[in-house]
Amino acid sequence: MGEIISGKELSKEIREQVKQRVSELKETYGKVPHLAVVLVGEDPASQSYVRGKERACKRAGMDSTVILKNDEITEDELLQIIGTLNKDDDVHGILVQLPLPKHIDENKVIDAIDIRKDVDGFHPLNVAYMHLGRDAILPATPKGILTMIHSKNIELKGKDALIIGRSNIVGKPVAMLLMKEHATVTIAHSRTQDLKSKCLRADIIVAAVGRPNTVTTDMVKDGAVVIDVGVNRVDGHLVGDCDFDAIKDKASYITPVPGGVGPMTITSLLQNTVECFERIMKQ
Ligand code: NAP
Repeated sequence: MGEIISGKELSKEIREQVKQRVSELKETYGKVPHLAVVLVGEDPASQSYVRGKERACKRAGMDSTVILKNDEITEDELLQIIGTLNKDDDVHGILVQLPLPKHIDENKVIDAIDIRKDVDGFHPLNVAYMHLGRDAILPATPKGILTMIHSKNIELKGKDALIIGRSNIVGKPVAMLLMKEHATVTIAHSRTQDLKSKCLRADIIVAAVGRPNTVTTDMVKDGAVVIDVGVNRVDGHLVGDCDFDAIKDKASYITPVPGGVGPMTITSLLQNTVECFERIMKQ
């Protein structure tokens, strides 16, 4: 049976280290990292994500502010809020919870965030730095996935990695980060033909689709590493994109849903907030 990489357990350890770091920073600078989260509208999933982020910040000893706006806010008003947070010396990280209502151009809003405070790593300059292999704030989910892989000393060099999904927030950055660590990367998407044969060649599969049972046990080779990013609700239960129960006997390592990549995403966000704080303080 494969080893389960518990994002929940790993997160506990890392969040403890973050808490420790925050108290050292408080000693040094007399203040703690402060994350400002902007939430527009009343989407229950977004509200729950934001609550989770706020709770995690508080537990790590950081400050967090949630700015709630109803979905009638104009693009200009939202840009003004970002401008104010950019200028506020007591705010070190800015996160705008996506998606935004249709009348607001997400790109404009992301572009407006001060890159030094871009804890999500979505600003185009941060994305460019990451692609160039330069020092960058990494997007939280891909960073969390890499942390999970590193936590088990899983060799990436020369391995075949298949990323299923090509979104800007998961698939593409994961592909880039795995390539940087010398994996040979294939990216699959909705138009990919014969996904099964591509999966069967892979030493590492990262599934980021949003469709249950996209990866079944007959698609996984013995000893493969399976990272399941998907979050799907089936009959009131959360499941990933992979058939966990069947695949766990075949994989060398597998991440569960829930309790896998999800908690690591928030953990990476905390690390990014500390990183932004440190960079700002050293300027
Ligand atoms: P997304 O933007 O909807 O992208 C989904 C990707 O899957 C697209 O590239 C799409 O291809 C591809 N796809 C769709 N059907 C496919 C199929 N049958 N075969 C192969 N590829 C297929 O989603 P996302 O934001 O990347 O998120 C993916 C999943 O991860 C979702 O379930 C989301 O909830 C979850 N997620 C979890 C976390 C976490 O912290 N746990 C964070 C982010 C996302 P096309 O490009 O051709 O459309």
